[in-house]
Order: sequence, then C-alpha cells, then structure tokens
Amino acid sequence: RAKLDGRNMFRFFEAEMGARMEARRQLELDLRRALALRQFELVYQPQLNLQSGQLVGCEALIRWRHPQRGVVSPLEFIPLAEEIGLIAPIGEWVLRTACMEAVSWPGDFSIAVNLSPAQFKSKKLVDTVKSALAASGLAAHRLELEITEGVLLHENRDNLAILHALRDLGLRISMDDFGTGYSSLSYLRSFPFDKIKIDRSFVSGGMTTKDSMAIVRAIASLGSSFGMTTVAEGVETPEQMQDIRAEGCTDVQGYLISRPVAAAEIVKLFAGQRLPSSIHQQSSGARP
Ligand code: C2E
Ligand code: MG
Ligand code: MG
Ligand code: MG
Repeated sequence: RAKLDGRNMFRFFEAEMGARMEARRQLELDLRRALALRQFELVYQPQLNLQSGQLVGCEALIRWRHPQRGVVSPLEFIPLAEEIGLIAPIGEWVLRTACMEAVSWPGDFSIAVNLSPAQFKSKKLVDTVKSALAASGLAAHRLELEITEGVLLHENRDNLAILHALRDLGLRISMDDFGTGYSSLSYLRSFPFDKIKIDRSFVSGGMTTKDSMAIVRAIASLGSSFGMTTVAEGVETPEQMQDIRAEGCTDVQGYLISRPVAAAEIVKLFAGQRLPSSIHQQSSGARP
C-alpha cells in the first residue's frame, strides 16, 4: 500500500470531509421535507409507580422513518432540527400528536413530551401548548413537559417566565436527565418542578453501583423533601430496579418495564397492565 505522504494525507481528509458535508447537506434537505411527507412518528415508553406497581403514564419519543436510512435517532436529527430552525414546527407536531393520541387512552394516564431548549426561543410556545390541549381535549393535568437544564442555564429569566406560564395552564413540568449538568442542584431552587428524572447514567451507566446509588439516594431524598416525584431512567435489570426502589425513587422507566412502543401497543399495556410477572411481584414488594 502506498505510503500516505503529507499531500496524499491532505487529499484523503479533504475527500472524507467533502463526503461528510454532502451527507449532512442531504440529511438537512430530507429533514426539511420530513414533516410534509409524514415521516415522523411517536413511540411511547411506559412509567411504573413502584408503590402501586401500576403504570402511571408514558413518555412520547419521536422517530424519523427515513425512506433510505431507516429509523433515524432523535439524538441525530433533533440537534440538526435545532440548528436549521425546524425545531418549532417539529415540536408542535409532537405536542399535537401526543395530546391527540393520549386523549383516547383508557384511564387517566399521563403523557410526557420532551421540549428542546430551542423551543423556548419562540414566543409562541405557551400558545402552541394551549392550542394542542384545546384541539385534542386532553385534560391539562395529564400533560407533562420534560425540559433539560439548558432551559434554565444562567437562570434565564425569560424562560423561567415561560415555565411559570406553562405550569399555570395546569400541566406538570419535569426536569429531565437530572444530575448530568454542572449546577443541577441550584435548578431545583429556581423552579418548583413536579418531577425529577434521574439520568440513565446513574442507573444503568458505567459508574460503580455504590457511587451511583449514593447519588440516586441523594436525589430521591431531595425529591421527597420537595414533594417531587422521582423517576429513575434506564432501568434495565431486576437488580437495578430493586436498588432504585431501596433508595426511595417513586417511579421507574426503562427497558425492564418496556422499550418504547407504538401507540397501539401502549394502549394494550395501559388497558391490560400486561407486564412480565416478575416485575409485578417485585414492584408490589412480594417475594416469589
Ligand atoms: P430522553 O428524553 O432522556 O429519553 C430517554 C431515552 O432513553 C430514549 O432514547 C429512550 O429510548 C432511552 N431509554 C429508555 N429506557 C432505556 C433503557 O433501559 N436503556 C437504554 N439504554 N436506553 C433507554 P431516544 O428515544 O433515542 O431519545 C433520545 C433523546 O432524544 C431523548 O432523551 C430526548 O432528549 C430526545 N428526544 C426524543 N424525542 C424527542 C422529542 O419529541 N422532542 C425533543 N425535543 N427531543 C426528543
Ligand atoms: Mg425525556
Ligand atoms: Mg431523560
Ligand atoms: Mg436522556
């Protein structure tokens, strides 16, 4: 194989970079058309209350069914959508669709929708949420909005005002991916969140169990003294669920309970509460 001298190396990188930019440009073009072509869909991941052993609601997660690339992860296209100014229309679609689907579910299950910090830049966010509720007829108390700490970075006063206006609609606000940012604790002082979602990295991440469980315990105890629900994200094994439960978290969400599923599936889960029996036994505290 020919040795890569400086010039060849440069050509190699240049070609590589060109190909990457072209792929990105194509993805951007595709993303601009995705809404109109109805390529988005929502999947739903249930949340289980540890005390009752019952499902209490679910989180809506967006999927992009790309005609050539298959399902594209939101981790890939949400940042792109934010960058090219598409997050407002996509976010509005998510809100409307989630509310519309949830209103037909049996019972009083809650529906959580993720908001990107970029959606707070639009002055219309409160109106958009109001109108999604009105159009669907969903009771506001069933809607939960998940925000990440980027929204309150530098104690952003405008965003804080928007959060209060949203909460005045009667819905609930959750702090998502808690524990991953730099000043997580101070956020709990700046806004009365209804729910804290403990980031997956503390639950099924790489950290030694002892250290991460100490963090989970601290967050659960904070949550309980503030009267907030605490949800552990990313629970994958019965052992993790037992630990989480012992540390005092109120709810769990993760592959152990269920992967995110299509709308038709979540309705079945809610209607029948059909879960693996091992989960029922553990969550009701019973021993096999
Ligand atoms: P998130 O809001 O923290 O959502 C939880 C993510 O963890 C989801 O990934 C979910 O599928 C995954 N997950 C749940 N349980 C487990 C588990 O037990 N193990 C593992 N390994 N993963 C688990 P997903 O669906 O790929 O979404 C990734 C992120 O994309 C979300 O993180 C959220 O920040 C963002 N996102 C998803 N849908 C939307 C949306 O409609 N709007 C906005 N703005 N962001 C969204
Ligand atoms: Mg979330
Ligand atoms: Mg999360
Ligand atoms: Mg996350």
